[in-house]
Amino acid sequence: MENSKKAPSFKESRTKETNGTIDPELIKELKFDADIRDLWSKSVYERDRRETFSKIDEIYDFIIVGAGTAGCVLARELIHNIPHVNILVLEAGPPATQVNDRMRLPGTYSLASVIWRTKEADWGYYTEAQTMPGTVDPTKEVLNKGFVYPRAKIWGGCSSVNGMIYIRGQKKDYELWAEQGPEYRIWDWEHCLEAFKAVENNARENPSEEFKKYHGFNGLLHVQDNPKNIYKILSDVVEVAKNLGIPYNEDFNGVRQNGVGGHQHTIKDGKRFSLADGYLVDALKKVEIYPESKPLGPPYGLPDEVGKFVAVNVKSHAHALNIIWDEEKKDENVAIGVRYFYDGGVHNAFIAPKGEVILCGGTINSPQILMLSGIGPKENLEANNIKIRKELPVGRNLWDHPLCFLSGKVMNPEKESVPRLHSWSSGFEIGIFHKGNVEGKIPSKEDFLDERPDMQLYATPTIVDPSIAANFESLAISMVLNIPSSVGHLELRSPDPFTQPNIFLNYYSKPDDLYRMMSSLKLAREIFKQPPLNTVWGVEEVGFDDELGKYSSGKDGEMTDEDWERYIREKTFTSFHPCGTVKMAPASQGGVVDHRLQVYGTKNLRVVDASIFPMVPSGNTNAPTAMVAWRASRLIKEDYDKKL
Ligand SMILES: Cc1cc2nc3c(=O)[nH]c(=O)nc-3n(C[C@H](O)[C@H](O)[C@H](O)COP(=O)(O)OP(=O)(O)OC[C@H]3O[C@@H](n4cnc5c(N)ncnc54)[C@H](O)[C@@H]3O)c2cc1C
Repeated sequence: MENSKKAPSFKESRTKETNGTIDPELIKELKFDADIRDLWSKSVYERDRRETFSKIDEIYDFIIVGAGTAGCVLARELIHNIPHVNILVLEAGPPATQVNDRMRLPGTYSLASVIWRTKEADWGYYTEAQTMPGTVDPTKEVLNKGFVYPRAKIWGGCSSVNGMIYIRGQKKDYELWAEQGPEYRIWDWEHCLEAFKAVENNARENPSEEFKKYHGFNGLLHVQDNPKNIYKILSDVVEVAKNLGIPYNEDFNGVRQNGVGGHQHTIKDGKRFSLADGYLVDALKKVEIYPESKPLGPPYGLPDEVGKFVAVNVKSHAHALNIIWDEEKKDENVAIGVRYFYDGGVHNAFIAPKGEVILCGGTINSPQILMLSGIGPKENLEANNIKIRKELPVGRNLWDHPLCFLSGKVMNPEKESVPRLHSWSSGFEIGIFHKGNVEGKIPSKEDFLDERPDMQLYATPTIVDPSIAANFESLAISMVLNIPSSVGHLELRSPDPFTQPNIFLNYYSKPDDLYRMMSSLKLAREIFKQPPLNTVWGVEEVGFDDELGKYSSGKDGEMTDEDWERYIREKTFTSFHPCGTVKMAPASQGGVVDHRLQVYGTKNLRVVDASIFPMVPSGNTNAPTAMVAWRASRLIKEDYDKKL
């Protein structure tokens, strides 16, 4: 007889709870792990005690903190464009190849909970729960739940774990950046487009003349269309959208963004393609010795006689702690190096006379490093016993794109047509961009034609709502609020560099945001109701008045605005696009860095990553971050050449 007893899942077997206590076997194992950690620390301490030499000062032309999207592009562009320099890249995580091969398969993106929480590759952040007055009924208090907030800790940064969708946002976004003052014109659409194209290597077959105007074909970031045979059910979503009056768009990064169509992805040969794959790997190929006429001297000889290696040195598992300041020029806040934790000890790296420290730690970590170094809001720094060097609104201006879900069960799946995810696909093949309705009504035809869409929808052949464990064939639509009005902030929780900041997202604190999200949800519902989705496929919504959720109130299942608000606030998650916490803007407008990305009131210090966006672009943020890094490399080179 077959044994019908189901084997316990991994989770069940490891975290079985007995009357609120954790499995004693697991406790035993964790204790063993902790003992080993202790022994390791002791051995490092003993080794350091025995060392007869003092700390070696490392000197580099540029120190880049963070090998994420921006750090990879910057390292490569600097090493290839400025002769005879050397660069140290400090990355808190490991090389991507060391974590697990599954991360490279596009299909595992949807197994996100497994990948994100891979300890070596994620910072383990979470957001704060917030209560605020309701939007529909401001006399009632509503709750925004806190949730895990994935941020990659690995070569390539978030480009090594992201959804791989290649979207740049709209021309108008960058015009707004440039309108901040005459000197901000270096960020106008023409300059940004040049940089987008320089980074991009688009593999579209037989591109039209118009497509060629907007895209690059010689950069190092590989971008491709979906393989031809996308999921049949997603092709039907495209047809349904067209029938509802949504225009077909063959290029969301072209002349206009609104419409329905296929996303392009940063995928190559069936595998994810990160900025580390494209840029960091190329940066590491450049090695020379300078000056060429002087051979390397003996290691114990005169330092001046020793040739210098001109190259990029990436240190993995190296956690930058704070900036080292020139204490002799206290009032000028001159950055001279970085203090970092590596291999069980604290190290110092310094910059050469023309050098710079460049923070590329991303939207959560770059502001944290600034604050730990005395640059930030007075009150929060003082509360954490950190000496203020320069008071700036670091950590304010936290933008993100809230995301909500509509999940459907496919009642008549043809076996081949609603497959489980293909390994080559993130599942996010299809997108719709439309203007949301600020009264929460279903969008009109005019909204579909509006060329400044503020909502982005993804259709996927799988459930993405983490609260729904789907063991059925499914279709889901995720709505993203692409031009939000609500802005959050972050602040130091502790002066400990290994403790995460407090993150307040403030989603839906502005009523428009909630109503626009509501209007997209209603559109998604409408899409589910159209043939052939409702007829041939038998798509039925789940999560309304069933075992997966209770949101309907009216007799006929109609949702009131209050029901929708409850649904939205409970289901909302992030689309992983935090930015803006080190805002590039005039100082009078809450800027932390100027138009050349230099931190106000300091010298030799820039920030180059998604944290400098003055406002969030109306689309996914990987390509814009790479664009910013490419532009920054040109600015840094100009300034470097001017220095004597
Ligand atoms: C799950 C997920 C899905 C996403 N999906 C998409 C998508 O489909 N399309 C898209 O365009 N965008 C997407 N994004 C967003 C996009 O990838 C990011 O906006 C972008 O990669 C940010 O780049 P960055 O350089 O600012 O920061 P990051 O890429 O986060 O890089 C920062 C790097 O700095 C390192 N670092 C931080 N602090 C320190 C320190 N103290 N010392 C040393 N190193 C440090 C980090 O470990 C990290 O490697 C997604 C993001 C996530 C997390």
